[in-house]
Amino acid sequence: MQRTHKIALCPTPEQIDYFKRACGTARRVWNWALNEWNKQYAVGGKPNAMALKKQFNAIKYTDPQWLDENGRPWLRDIHRDAHAQPFAHLAKAWERFFTDLKAGKEAHAPRFKKKGRCRDSFYVANDKFRLDGKTIRLPKIGDVAMTEELRFKGKILGATVSRTADRWFVAIQVEVPDAQCYRRRTSHEVNGIDLGVKAAATISSGEVIEAPKPLKAALRRLKIRGRRLSRKLEAAKEMAGFGRHACLPKGTRLPVSNNRQKSAATLARLYARLANLRADVTHKLTTRLCRENQAVVIEDGNVKGMLANERLARAISDVGFGVFRSQLEYKAKRYGTHLIIADRWYPSSRLCFKCGWKNEALTLSDREWVCAQCGAHHDRDLNAARNLKRLATETALPVASPTRNGGAAAGTVPAAAGKVTLVRDDGGQQDTSGQEENRAHLCALS
Ligand SMILES: [Zn+2]
Repeated sequence: MQRTHKIALCPTPEQIDYFKRACGTARRVWNWALNEWNKQYAVGGKPNAMALKKQFNAIKYTDPQWLDENGRPWLRDIHRDAHAQPFAHLAKAWERFFTDLKAGKEAHAPRFKKKGRCRDSFYVANDKFRLDGKTIRLPKIGDVAMTEELRFKGKILGATVSRTADRWFVAIQVEVPDAQCYRRRTSHEVNGIDLGVKAAATISSGEVIEAPKPLKAALRRLKIRGRRLSRKLEAAKEMAGFGRHACLPKGTRLPVSNNRQKSAATLARLYARLANLRADVTHKLTTRLCRENQAVVIEDGNVKGMLANERLARAISDVGFGVFRSQLEYKAKRYGTHLIIADRWYPSSRLCFKCGWKNEALTLSDREWVCAQCGAHHDRDLNAARNLKRLATETALPVASPTRNGGAAAGTVPAAAGKVTLVRDDGGQQDTSGQEENRAHLCALS
């Protein structure tokens, strides 16, 4: 199993300077390669990453565009991994593009990277760096202090140095023996989880998980700081002779004042903090769900469709459904938990969890409703979570035909039943299939 440990670095100013240049190099090489790829493709060629790399290696120390003002090849100052890896990345990006295209999914062709708009990072191969406790020795710059030691034991595959706001990190990929990754569950419930509009998540056990307070406070700060920065931007426009809120012609570079730079840095730090807060919540929640459940049922969220609705947008993006799901996926493996994903047209909110009556008239704003058939009073989210739970147990309700207002295209019948692996809801029992699997692995090790 591959695992990555991302560790914050404490670089010196000289090292930061090198990091920035290395990231710039990686970006420029990517752009060169992509441009070359497009050119060759346009004239009917079949570009590939290896050939492009060879082509680049032939010119990188001689071509004028890769020389500094003194005619010296500046690429010599940067370790070669930083300018070799972009070719592999580009090949991967195209591969993903064509796979998605074939699968009929939304495909994104690789794009040019723009300074300040793209992720700053560069790669270091596993034989080019050495770890010694809380120190990493990187090529060209030597020892850099890390805030903690590498947490995993195993074969080191490589590392990526990257920047978030004004902090630098190294992410070290390690191949860890599978047995080391497995964890023991603390209880064996079965639960459905409804990712919410009002609350961050509702669990079928009745527990409601609210978005954390610091997140709300940070969102408020974000507005204020965003406003402050845009005020400085407008001022810069005015200084340069443009009107307020004017659209700048393409390629215009406004002078950047110290205050604008500081303001932008503060805003970037706040964004990073916000991302950390969100990651903290999702990680804690997904770990807990996998640790305490033998089966977890979630909806195959149609995030796009939901984002189209403004009312829902904030809550969904706050929780980050895609991240939530992928975390559940890999953590479920570690805990031997079944992850069941309900079909996206399964009407979890509309079905009465007690009798199976379907409330066709339910709208997004209905937080509570009463079943017309059995008279049960439902909290919208809890009812949805309970219906999801039913998908994992033998008491699953039969699924009715797709709702017209659910947005299903004609002919797409919910296939929830096909995707569900039935699990016995036997609460406290120790020997559940997943755990046994884990134990087997643990035994194999000892
Ligand atoms: Zn009912």
